[in-house]
Amino acid sequence: MHAAIYPGSFDPMTYGHLDIIKRAAGMFDEVIVSILDNRQKTPLFSVDERVNILKEATKDIANVKVESFSGLLIDYAKEKNINIAIRGLRAITDFEYELQISQTNRLLSKGALDTIFLTTSLEYAYLSSSSVKEIASFGGDISRCVPSFIEDMVYEKYGISKNEAER
Ligand code: ADP
Repeated sequence: MHAAIYPGSFDPMTYGHLDIIKRAAGMFDEVIVSILDNRQKTPLFSVDERVNILKEATKDIANVKVESFSGLLIDYAKEKNINIAIRGLRAITDFEYELQISQTNRLLSKGALDTIFLTTSLEYAYLSSSSVKEIASFGGDISRCVPSFIEDMVYEKYGISKNEAER
């Protein structure tokens, strides 16, 4: 069986992430969306909330699983016996960072973990979790960035009702 891990923060998941998940699910027998529990960052959504959001968003894609992990990606991948990580590339600014992580992972895993990059669909090229949070925190419209149930949850975190937000 050909499986891949799609690791990330997904705080929160956007349509850009969902697009990568759907495309990866068409290429592999199984895709495990793996949410990194990073204690150094203070996320908007807890790991459990993010796991539940991703499960809901991917419930109709049979070969997608959602999990969380902490520690090094190479250790988690080894434990699962998976040797491919998927990452998305939006712009040249992503490239340098992603290249460094990908090469570090190859080195640390002694070649066991390779990364496959999917380039963003143009309509989502501008989208990032951090811009979603910034826009929502000021009551801006995020309806083109995230599915509607996530939109509600994001506004709730900022104490804004959806009706108050600009639409
Ligand atoms: P991280 O904090 O690990 O960078 P993110 O949740 O921000 O995690 O992103 C996870 C992955 O999804 C990264 O590879 C990122 O480049 C990719 N990604 C994020 N937004 C988009 C998008 N709009 N289009 C394509 N890929 C994206």
